[in-house]
Amino acid sequence: MATIHLEQVGHSYGSAVYALEKTDILFEDGKTYALLGPSGCGKTTMLNVISGLLYPSDGRVIVGGKDVTRMPTAKRNIAQVFQFPVIYQSKTVYENLAFPLRCRGWDKARIAPRVAEIAELLGLTARLGQSARRLTADEKQLVSLGRGLVRNDVSALLMDEPLTVIDPHMKFDLRRRIKQASDKTRHTVVYVTHDQNEAMTFADEVLVMSAGRVVQRGTPQQLFESPCNRYVGNFIGSPGMNFLSVERDGDRLLWQGFPVFSDERVGRLAPGAELMVGIRPEHVAFAKDGVTGIPAVVQGVQHHGNVDVIDAVIGSERLKVKARSSLAVRDGPLRIVLPVERTRLYVDGTLLF
Ligand code: ATP
Repeated sequence: MATIHLEQVGHSYGSAVYALEKTDILFEDGKTYALLGPSGCGKTTMLNVISGLLYPSDGRVIVGGKDVTRMPTAKRNIAQVFQFPVIYQSKTVYENLAFPLRCRGWDKARIAPRVAEIAELLGLTARLGQSARRLTADEKQLVSLGRGLVRNDVSALLMDEPLTVIDPHMKFDLRRRIKQASDKTRHTVVYVTHDQNEAMTFADEVLVMSAGRVVQRGTPQQLFESPCNRYVGNFIGSPGMNFLSVERDGDRLLWQGFPVFSDERVGRLAPGAELMVGIRPEHVAFAKDGVTGIPAVVQGVQHHGNVDVIDAVIGSERLKVKARSSLAVRDGPLRIVLPVERTRLYVDGTLLF
């Protein structure tokens, strides 16, 4: 496995706009990364630059200390899994899984146990003797994944939305299996997805992208707890973070006239900045005594299994709250609490603390 270093790498497809703005990114050896962002933000461009399907307009790609910027894909020793199955229809599942190993010169005695191991991991053992043509779409993609995972001598494993065609019911289990396989082989994995659940459950670190830039990188927990700006706060979480317009009163911040934050750093902020407090719907609490807290009016409750998403109105603002459905919140008055250790301060849209 290897460290991947993008050194001032940028790419434009010929227009003045960069699909990937010049950037320095280090993917550490043996870690799993997710590139997360909406369609068109540059995830596939970054992946293709790493794999060699694309030579970047700027910068250098260093894999395992070696400059591979102009090296063709085939020579990079990188395994790839795409959105749609790439398999040999005329071969059996076994032959498909064995093929990458055969190309590396492995002998039959070494290939058999490795193929068996990967087939077992992906639940394909019973299919090994079958022709790939006769598999379901899900199974074909599993074989494709298996072909990516089977080699344990690659520098990196790159996956571009590999679960798109997989039945939603299977995705949860499959994520676990892929994670298990990549943890075992200690591949450096770069995984492209626009699905935050996939990114947050799968990756050691997530790189959130927007318009050709990495906006924030961090562990799933860091992105959830301290999004660096409103874009990440809204993109991560379901629903996203609440951003509440606040006013300064000395060292305090007031929301709709109620104090929600107090810190001496507030008093030192330059005047005129747009101040917002961010809080996750999961972190809003209810005042148990019915007297303290901020008075709110619930105007809608959506049930999501054992969790409710509550729409609360406070003065001229709305707040999303997530609560256990066993609390049986209903429309009407209620008092909420914004735990200070869970609130974040955003100045002109960017996290301050
Ligand atoms: P998706 O999730 O839809 O695949 P993405 O985040 O992977 O999107 P990219 O495919 O990297 O984004 O595209 C980034 C930008 O580059 C987009 O504006 C896209 O239209 C543009 N682009 C991608 N491929 C090409 C190409 N071959 N020629 C010209 N422009 C391209």
